[in-house]
Amino acid sequence: MLGEGILKGMAETARNFVGSYFSAERMTTVEYPEERIAPIEAARVFPFLVYDTENWEAGLRCVACQICEKECPPKCIFIEKSKDKKPDAIGKPQFYPTRFDIDISVCMSCQICVEVCPFEAIKMDNVFELATDDRFGGLLLDRKELAKSNEYYHGIHPTEAARVDARLAAEKVKADAKSTAAVVASAVKGAERPAPPAAGGV
Ligand code: SF4
Ligand code: SF4
Repeated sequence: MLGEGILKGMAETARNFVGSYFSAERMTTVEYPEERIAPIEAARVFPFLVYDTENWEAGLRCVACQICEKECPPKCIFIEKSKDKKPDAIGKPQFYPTRFDIDISVCMSCQICVEVCPFEAIKMDNVFELATDDRFGGLLLDRKELAKSNEYYHGIHPTEAARVDARLAAEKVKADAKSTAAVVASAVKGAERPAPPAAGGV
């Protein structure tokens, strides 16, 4: 029947409208900002940078590989890479970002930066109250503003953060085993090398 879908939709709306006076489950909205719904684990708003240890700057996981900057569809990530290196989360010397900005007024929350990052360094935050009257840079967040601890990450996305920690721990075990094997191999090679002739010998 012509218009059947519209009638069904209107009936459903009317059912929810009347029902909302009698059943709390049919109340699908809250009176924000006085009332707020509890944050849910699956919520994703804008990205942040994860750091380990107490020091946000030294502990940033980001190694300035710039993959996220290249892959970001609206090009709202701006990175400058260091000239020197510092140890990353698994102790490997890596470059780091001397500048890492995200223009969240342009970010479209697509999460591509998170998906392409090989270092688990950038994740999605659930903070959404970021309105500002500063039109000139108020929403251009720098690396200090973007940096949030791994504990914070666990607080907002516990399941995902636990999976990431397990992966990084497994990588660290593998890297440690590799470097121990390299040390042993070099010691064995040194022991097998013939001793140099004694000084003054013929
Ligand atoms: S969420 Fe998407 S748009 Fe926003 S910074 Fe990441 S890649 Fe860019
Ligand atoms: S956040 Fe990840 S992908 Fe982006 S530069 Fe840092 S390490 Fe590379």
